[in-house]
Amino acid sequence: MRKFTEATAILKKELGDNAVRTDTEACFAASFDNTKLSFLPEAVIFPKDESDLASALRLANKNGVPVTVRGAGTGTTGASAPVCGGWVISLAHWTELKIDADAGIAIVQPGVITQKINDEAAKYGLFYPPDPASVKHCTIGGNIATNAGGLHAAKYGVTRDYVLALEGFLPTGEKVRWGAPVKKYVSGYNLRDLWIGSEGMLGVITRATLRLIPKPEAKHTFLCAFSDDETALLAAQDLIKSRIVPSVCEFLDTLSVSCAQRYSEKCFFKKKSAVLLVEVDGDALSVPAQAERVRSWASSRATDFRETAEAEEAECLWEVRRICSQSMFLIADSKLNEDIAVPAQNFVPLLKTLRKITEETGLATPVFGHAADGNLHVHVMFNRNETREREAAQTAIRRVMESVVALDGVITGEHGIGLAKSPFLEIQHSSDEIFAMLAVKKALDPNNILGRGKMFSPFNVWDYVPVNVKLPWDKKKA
Ligand SMILES: Cc1cc2nc3c(=O)[nH]c(=O)nc-3n(C[C@H](O)[C@H](O)[C@H](O)COP(=O)(O)OP(=O)(O)OC[C@H]3O[C@@H](n4cnc5c(N)ncnc54)[C@H](O)[C@@H]3O)c2cc1C
Repeated sequence: MRKFTEATAILKKELGDNAVRTDTEACFAASFDNTKLSFLPEAVIFPKDESDLASALRLANKNGVPVTVRGAGTGTTGASAPVCGGWVISLAHWTELKIDADAGIAIVQPGVITQKINDEAAKYGLFYPPDPASVKHCTIGGNIATNAGGLHAAKYGVTRDYVLALEGFLPTGEKVRWGAPVKKYVSGYNLRDLWIGSEGMLGVITRATLRLIPKPEAKHTFLCAFSDDETALLAAQDLIKSRIVPSVCEFLDTLSVSCAQRYSEKCFFKKKSAVLLVEVDGDALSVPAQAERVRSWASSRATDFRETAEAEEAECLWEVRRICSQSMFLIADSKLNEDIAVPAQNFVPLLKTLRKITEETGLATPVFGHAADGNLHVHVMFNRNETREREAAQTAIRRVMESVVALDGVITGEHGIGLAKSPFLEIQHSSDEIFAMLAVKKALDPNNILGRGKMFSPFNVWDYVPVNVKLPWDKKKA
């Protein structure tokens, strides 16, 4: 620890007091992400340029200081929380953004808020599709490091599908550039794609070149009710099998819908229902034809549905989806929130397992998420001060993860491993696979500087009490 403090003093001298903050306010603000698990760093570094960043990385290597790279801290796994202390490098103030409309690309620094890319692209009739639900708060650096998905991934894919080139620094402080602003790239090992989704553990991203596509001219939104969860999931499968490609296909189980109704004091549908929120988009000519096909599917499968082509009305249809996550706190004060993905044909077996877990543990397991790409947000609700519930939640979540892998799925579809999912890595991967990952980590980061304590060291989130802070994306708690 003394060594860290000495290294911090050297860095402060080199970069200046403004770039190296050790005050409580800065350290606390950089100590947690959306999990609200807080670990205080020794210092928060705000590099003014690449030279500052390289100096910090080199000094960290020399002194063995753990470094955590940070965007906006909206991550839901603790990946940007400095669990081993050391330095947090914050790049949220690196916000240069340039659209090259002729080339159909955006060149961005990592601190650009993702929504801003889309707002700027739209001025040229262009579109950057990856849109995590946190799009108004999260940074593109964080999105690339987690390979963030979003509500439109069903049709448009995830962050990886739009990254053409990356610039940045190896953990040891050398500048590198992977990829180029071209669509085809097979020169050498593809370390660009290795960085994408590597959770800030293999390098620091300082610039990205992103592919933009033409902005869809129109869209049509449907909110469809189904008698029960299974019927809704089977209907989603049929929609996809019928070769309709919705831009959005969100599932909410009956429990999620009833929580949202109680929370908003609105009645989305008269009868108790599971819900599918479906959207189609494209050019103005094709959307009515796509909508007609969805209408015919909804007429034959749903007990009730509402639809609109108007943006303002569509917002009303979206409300149930936007509030369902927060409304779950009506059931219990805490949740283990997973983002598993299973093949569509295994939705129903997964649902049955969850219902069995609820029967056995007495804990509610509401589910909502991206039905078209199999990425479902599974929750285990529990009251933190009830020892029985807390222990039952741990057992339940392990069983969820084991079932997901047995059903050919993955333990995380978009959030990543970080701290929260580290106990389950060995359920997903064989020891040979983990060995290969560790070999890559050691080759690029021989002193284990970046993201120390994450991913490969099992961490029991439930043993830690989150800090009581309200974040900008927190809505009021019911
Ligand atoms: C309300 C809400 C809704 C969400 N919805 C979604 C969703 O729909 N889809 C989804 O995928 N996620 C979602 N998330 C999770 C989160 O928003 C994403 O993981 C996002 O990509 C994190 O971005 P950030 O800027 O907040 O990164 P942070 O949380 O600060 O960091 C996340 C990871 O990225 C690394 N990192 C950050 N910047 C860099 C950089 N420049 N170089 C290298 N590594 C870096 C960090 O070290 C860390 O490992 C949601 C979160 C919230 C709070």
